[in-house]
Amino acid sequence: MKTGQKQRVAILGSTGSIGTNTLDVIARHPDRFEVVALTAATQVEAMLAQVARFKPRLAVMASEEHGRVLAEKIKQNGLSTVVATGPAAIEAIAGDDGIDTVMAAIVGAAGLAPCLAAARAGKRLLLANKEALVVGGRLFMDAVRTGGATLLPIDSEHSAIFQCLPEDPASWAARIDRIHLTSSGGPFRQLPLSELSGVTPDQACAHPNFSMGRKISVDSATMMNKALEVIEARWLFDLAPEQIEVVVHPQQIIHSMVEFTDASVLAQLGTPDMRVPIAYGLSWPERIESGAARLDFSRLAGLHFEPPSRERFPGLFLSWEALRAPEGTTAVLNAANEISVAAFLDQRIGFADIHAVNDSTLAAVSPTALTSLADLLELDAATRRAAEADVRRRSA
Ligand code: NAD
Ligand code: MG
Repeated sequence: MKTGQKQRVAILGSTGSIGTNTLDVIARHPDRFEVVALTAATQVEAMLAQVARFKPRLAVMASEEHGRVLAEKIKQNGLSTVVATGPAAIEAIAGDDGIDTVMAAIVGAAGLAPCLAAARAGKRLLLANKEALVVGGRLFMDAVRTGGATLLPIDSEHSAIFQCLPEDPASWAARIDRIHLTSSGGPFRQLPLSELSGVTPDQACAHPNFSMGRKISVDSATMMNKALEVIEARWLFDLAPEQIEVVVHPQQIIHSMVEFTDASVLAQLGTPDMRVPIAYGLSWPERIESGAARLDFSRLAGLHFEPPSRERFPGLFLSWEALRAPEGTTAVLNAANEISVAAFLDQRIGFADIHAVNDSTLAAVSPTALTSLADLLELDAATRRAAEADVRRRSA
């Protein structure tokens, strides 16, 4: 992108929680950003409203059937946005020459291929889709390096860490002692343990501080979200597993911390609002207005911290285990979790079964050599089959 020109943005997963927050920030800065492409899976009405408002050149629906309906409605409404369909069209737009910035806000491993395409094409890549990095691991980071992409974390914890670090990544290793990822502890932090196995999807999706997609909401309730974030941090900041710690902090005012070699700790604070890390990703290294409320220190009664309970959140501890196991194990953990969470949301298994399925799938599937996206997708598919079989046994 040349200076003085608008950043041409593609939002992958524009109808989701991160996607709509991204459009909210962009709408505040019409002088800086131009929405060129939007993509979604199946939400035709939400996409139509976004197309009418932002007038992108292209709208892509992952589902062909929904793409046809969208194209019809776009025509009826006299709009000129072109509609494309299918995962290949999403991948193509992520690497398109007419795009400077890609917001990766698809949920799950489905976002990996477009993330790799954006990385290889040297885009400014705003990464919310943590599963893509958990699955892609070294392959993903190699693509970022060789493609010359600028990878900017959107996950609030990783944005916090990024904001606490000096601009030159080459200086990080010698300075960082460890990082502390904060976690809200989710909606069940204080629920009696005996009641945990009976919680419903709706209870699990009622997050105390954020309104998020249903998959990440369940991940927050199990703390598998933090497990994925531990793995995400390992790759983003090139850390050893033992340099990553997790602390439960229910108020979500401190979004994470970096502890340096001299024992000094830097934290990033703010009201819990995803528009802050999104605005930072969009404007880095500058800063722009995000729309978030400002912190009122006089109303901050006291900040609470506690260690995560292994009994309550066994899934969290799988992250360090997976990081120490052969590479690819984190992809197994992610795929198992996508299947178990979907089964829980469909009320096929109970809340405690999520961890049981993840744990037994990790034991059952061993990753082999991974040198390409095809290898990773094959491992992902094999894991899904194993986890699905385990779900069937438990729900029979
Ligand atoms: P969401 O479910 O609200 O939205 C997901 C978006 O991806 C939707 O637009 C949907 O249409 C699209 N999508 C889903 N499956 C797809 C597929 N197979 N192919 C193409 N598109 C598909 O999810 P979200 O809460 O916005 O989360 C998105 C990502 O950001 C996740 O990886 C999540 O972990 C991460 N994240 C979210 C938050 C948050 O506050 N919501 C915070 C940090 C990180
Ligand atoms: Mg997060």
